[in-house]
Amino acid sequence: MKKHNFYAGPSILPEFTKQKVAEAAIDFAGTGLSVMEVSHRSKEFVAVMDKAIELVKELLHVPEGYSVLFLQGGASTQFLMAPYNLLKKKAAYLNTGSWSSKAIKEAKLIGEIVEVASSKDANFNYIPKGFVIPEDADYFHITSNNTIFGTALLTDPVSPVPLVADMSSDIFSRLIDVSKYDVIYAGAQKNLGPSGATLVIVKDDALGKVDRPIPTMLNYQTHIDKVSMFNTPSVLPVFACLQTLIWLKEKGGVEAMEKINIEKATLLYDELDRNILFEPNIKVVEDRSRMNVTFVMTPEYAEQEKAFLDFATSKGMVGIKGHRSVGGFRASIYNAMPVDSVKAMIGAMQEFEQTI
Ligand SMILES: *Cc1c(COP(=O)(O)O)cnc(C)c1O
Repeated sequence: MKKHNFYAGPSILPEFTKQKVAEAAIDFAGTGLSVMEVSHRSKEFVAVMDKAIELVKELLHVPEGYSVLFLQGGASTQFLMAPYNLLKKKAAYLNTGSWSSKAIKEAKLIGEIVEVASSKDANFNYIPKGFVIPEDADYFHITSNNTIFGTALLTDPVSPVPLVADMSSDIFSRLIDVSKYDVIYAGAQKNLGPSGATLVIVKDDALGKVDRPIPTMLNYQTHIDKVSMFNTPSVLPVFACLQTLIWLKEKGGVEAMEKINIEKATLLYDELDRNILFEPNIKVVEDRSRMNVTFVMTPEYAEQEKAFLDFATSKGMVGIKGHRSVGGFRASIYNAMPVDSVKAMIGAMQEFEQTI
């Protein structure tokens, strides 16, 4: 039976990426060696890194004066690394979920943090609005897509200070204006590749302004100077990320992907709004994530939760159980998720509705 992969992360990858990784696991670029067993300084792997960086710049229209890095340590290391490099005195954070809260916790080790607003009072089921960003903050940090709760900031926020964004779960899903950001970071395992690579886009001018000594590996400049080759990069994940970038370009780039993502999300939210058994967690329509659609059974049918999970599983749906802090269900519909899988999910919901 065909499996429809709705896992939140690690998550679905394009068939193209998996095929190319499978081939290169045995014979990489005609070397007769696996991509895992050639030097990262070989001309074949250097070409992979260079091409991956070039495609990130092309697909996101990254302006001059920015560096693209492939690091390790996940987005969780960036929670610390970004403030280490950028926070002089004070930074502003918007608290929209568990990942934002973790970013705030780490940043507090470095400097004064102003939490401009939080939706914690409502279990993060909306994006706070109308908050004031202090003009003397060194930067304003956002989590553009809240993977666990299913909310998103679908436009670049207006900010008097530079932005720093955790885009782990929506990078490449919609067009962004990179020039508004000092740092964008994303663990690869949601929308780009396997875990083990972390994409960072950093404005060169934003660096070198803090007085504190920065540990070598936590210093963006170290990795900029060595084009992400200061130490051994995660060669297989970076190779896989490159394949997804090639696939994305062939699909028409981020602009084309954004249209498909809107189509997929609209189909699913429309069904959740229609189907008597289900309701979306996020009631504020403009805050609804296009990547992670969270939903529950309506109160009347709450006792059907387990039955629906079993039914959907029998139809090939994988990974739809909601995060433990939210409950219910979560369908993660990242770039690599075909419209047909979303339709299959909707089909399962409609079929289940008929059985009640
Ligand atoms: C998954 C995720 C993280 C954590 O990423 P790691 O790579 O596991 O450190 C951080 N932020 C967001 C928004 C995420 O979705």
